[in-house]
Amino acid sequence: MDNIKQENIEEICFKVSKDIILPKFQNLQDDDIKYKNGADLVTSVDIEAEKELKKNLLKIIPSSNFIGEEEYALNDKIINHYNEENYCWTVDPIDGTKNFVNGKDRFAIMISLTFKEKILYSWIYKPLENTMCYAIFNEGAFINKDRIHTCSVQSLKEAKGSISTKYWENHEWEKLKLMKNNFAEVSSYKCIGYEYVDIARGKRNFAILSKLSPWDHIPGILIVRESGGDDLDFNHNQYNFNKKNKNLIVGNSKEFNLKILNKLGV
Ligand SMILES: [Mg+2]
Repeated sequence: MDNIKQENIEEICFKVSKDIILPKFQNLQDDDIKYKNGADLVTSVDIEAEKELKKNLLKIIPSSNFIGEEEYALNDKIINHYNEENYCWTVDPIDGTKNFVNGKDRFAIMISLTFKEKILYSWIYKPLENTMCYAIFNEGAFINKDRIHTCSVQSLKEAKGSISTKYWENHEWEKLKLMKNNFAEVSSYKCIGYEYVDIARGKRNFAILSKLSPWDHIPGILIVRESGGDDLDFNHNQYNFNKKNKNLIVGNSKEFNLKILNKLGV
């Protein structure tokens, strides 16, 4: 895809972050904050940032489709774009909205470009650090321009990661609660983009995930795969944003993910 230049995507993210996101960090007014679907936080900044990202990304590939987290909240039919014979952008304008609202430092812009079921490119941009992590299918994963790699640990006891606490079936949660003690550390960043980047660069080893909204996972999945990691759901299939996996283990290698599945007995 010749239209894609890293510097263009970086410039778009930098500008959206400088003009729209960062001025409101630790500076949100009450009427900037709302709830969607009854429970999920959304701010005027998420909505404005997504519109600006959409406008700029569609300029790069004018006939492409666009799926944004906030647009989806208003019209869930846009998810059908994934079935079309066309390029599709997927955007999470702010991953970690809760941290952003609370003035905490882990939040990110996440973008990916897919064609049907294939993830071609993905980007996770951290506004506060002005760092870009990106991956290109079959070419690797990078932070700024440096190639990154996962770090293998031999046993679960040495591994650091997270276990999602919501959206599980009761029988699954009963098992997952007990899993925690098998690892060196289980903690959440409340910003999955940051977790994906840390798995990809070897600072963390795994995430056990539920509720797999495409904008939350497509970018990180490609970054982890391209840095040597892998992903497997409880049926031993890889993540496919078009097939709605209900759970997923993302980890530093396929062998490691299989150890977790084995321990879970699935
Ligand atoms: Mg978001």
